[in-house]
Amino acid sequence: MSTSLIATVAVAAPLDKALSYLVPHALREQARVGVRLRVPLGRRSVVGYLLGLAEGESAGLKEIKEVLDEAPLFPPEMIPFFVRAADYYGHPLGEVIRTALPAGLSGRGEEVSIRRENYYTPAAMAGEPAGARQRELLAFIRERNGAPLSELRRAFTAPHASLHRLVEQGHLTEAEVEVHRDPFLDAPVPADCPVTPSAEQAAALAAISVALDSGSFSPLLLHGVTGSGKTEVYLRAIENALERGRTALVLVPEIALTPQLVGRFRARFAGRGGRIAVLHSGLSEGERYDAWRAIARGEAAIVIGARSALFAPLPAPGIIVVDEEHEASYKQAEGFRYHARDLALLRGQMAGGVVLLGSATPAVTTYHRARSGQLGYLPLAGRVEGRPLPAVELVDLREARPEGDSSLSPPLAAALEETLVRGEQALLLLNRRGFAPFLLCADCGTTFRCPNCAITLTFHRGRRQLRCHYCDHIETPPELCPGCRGSAVEPQGAGTERLEEELSTLFPAARIARMDRDTTARKGAHQSLVERMLREEIDILVGTQMVAKGHDFPRVTLVGVVGADSSLNLPDFRSAERTFALLSQVAGRAGRGETPGRVLIQTYSPDHYALTCAAGHDYEGFYQQEIACRQALDYPPFGYLVNLVLAGNEEPKVLRAAAALADGLQRAAGEAEVLGPAPCPLARLRGKSRVQILLKAPERLPLRRLLARLPELRKKIPSGVALVVDVDPVDML
Ligand SMILES: [Zn+2]
Ligand SMILES: [Zn+2]
Repeated sequence: MSTSLIATVAVAAPLDKALSYLVPHALREQARVGVRLRVPLGRRSVVGYLLGLAEGESAGLKEIKEVLDEAPLFPPEMIPFFVRAADYYGHPLGEVIRTALPAGLSGRGEEVSIRRENYYTPAAMAGEPAGARQRELLAFIRERNGAPLSELRRAFTAPHASLHRLVEQGHLTEAEVEVHRDPFLDAPVPADCPVTPSAEQAAALAAISVALDSGSFSPLLLHGVTGSGKTEVYLRAIENALERGRTALVLVPEIALTPQLVGRFRARFAGRGGRIAVLHSGLSEGERYDAWRAIARGEAAIVIGARSALFAPLPAPGIIVVDEEHEASYKQAEGFRYHARDLALLRGQMAGGVVLLGSATPAVTTYHRARSGQLGYLPLAGRVEGRPLPAVELVDLREARPEGDSSLSPPLAAALEETLVRGEQALLLLNRRGFAPFLLCADCGTTFRCPNCAITLTFHRGRRQLRCHYCDHIETPPELCPGCRGSAVEPQGAGTERLEEELSTLFPAARIARMDRDTTARKGAHQSLVERMLREEIDILVGTQMVAKGHDFPRVTLVGVVGADSSLNLPDFRSAERTFALLSQVAGRAGRGETPGRVLIQTYSPDHYALTCAAGHDYEGFYQQEIACRQALDYPPFGYLVNLVLAGNEEPKVLRAAAALADGLQRAAGEAEVLGPAPCPLARLRGKSRVQILLKAPERLPLRRLLARLPELRKKIPSGVALVVDVDPVDML
């Protein structure tokens, strides 16, 4: 009996196990581990991922129909990582791999038109050219270690003739390079000015070098206050990794919001043999596929991207940096609900690399790990150049009441006035977009709610719309109250749109701009706001938490937080942690230049430890209080959670299914607690009724045992009710 070539394939379908297929003779050459395949499954044909090849018995096996990629999309070393991730999150392996690969990879990669342009690098040649203009050009190119024509055109008018002469004389070499249509490439690259590391930075770097040399898994927490120079540590640590012939993976919370950070990486590594691949949502599907294949071919030494870049096919990264590791956006909110920071630790462990978690406000669970010795601890307690942290004042709204409909307390209004008089910039945070969070009829109490979700519709005055911020349902606000036919319908509370309007009335001469999801939806809009801030064309920037992220505006001397209470009062055990992190982060935007900064936080809860500790720049104090609450309630890090959410159109059916599931789980619970079923805080979302069951245990093992029973219990859930399994949930709403 002859043997055949058998492929192990994970199909992109909710199946527990990988399947075996016969590789037909015609496809033997193309079938390599890491490519996508088209395979039959029942009567359908589905996409699968080739995980292994072996000679074996072919009886009863179906044949692979088609090989979809010319070259593997991931190296074989990543397969055990995918398997562990699938196992940990209780998610089908094929779905895990599908999530890991770039979105939109449904068929073959589309053809991408590649643009090319000239790139000039300085030649190793002594002497200077004759003309002043040529000398100027050459100095510019030398400073950058090479520059493409497009950049030179921006900096000099008609540089062609001079460039030509410089090449002829041997001062420059000219080469054609591929240009990706990449919004980040169009962003000006800041001059790279590496500073001498501070004593703290040097100590952190020394520890990272030791870890790199050890060649074994080294998880580290870089705990640096805002403005302490964490990025410089990342850059130098990556240089050290590259010098050792290793590669680097850098994760940032939202790539579109971090052009300055990406710019610094470009400035440091461009033209130094450290090719950088930036994975971001601005790439078309084809470009993303190309970037992915280039990484898989080993052409990139550094990959930068948001959450999903964690899966970039870099062979054995020597260092994985997770910037702002506490950010909730590292958790995928649907489908395969992984946490990129946690999987970065797993990947680093399997690759024997350094995992560097950076934050000014580490997650409570992360800091707890550092304190218990599971993570190395690298503190940066001081700001660069000894700049002081800004003075933070809490404004008690019960005493310093804003007048009438105003959102601004007298102290904040006065501080804005003073800042404008001094010609400096201010940043105002109000974490709610739109004009007003709801409309209310003062006569009959009518409000306007989303028909699909259990929340009120937000009023957007500019567009004259009532919008649901969850499902994007849109209505036109009525002229008269639908309840009483009266005309007393008024916007209640304030969002960023209303605050912007109030500011322009209050300070008519000031240049005011708004940064939120509504004003930055257009491509490039966010970056243009950042650039206008840097050029000081804006006096007051109003915005949602977007304004708190990663910007370095040296002329901002006043930061105001208009309302700190909305995030504090969310029904989620992490609300204090999130509020503390957000306030610390936005406060850190003040006084990053030479002028010291001032921060005013308006609140109704000035005694809450999340606020007092943020005001005192006291992470340790916050941690001590928060960890005590967690311990009292067995929340992470003292307990582990799995959230099961059942959702469906018919509420009674969802409730029955949830009760039956909870009952089944209860019987198998062992040491785990089964809490609920209870309605989710958002009991209706996008037209579905939602009920949750929370599983809680002091160790992971009882939860894993319980999850192992799910496939069997799942069978009893009727059609029309969906079950979502969320291991280590972050969003509990
Ligand atoms: Zn009414
Ligand atoms: Zn809705």
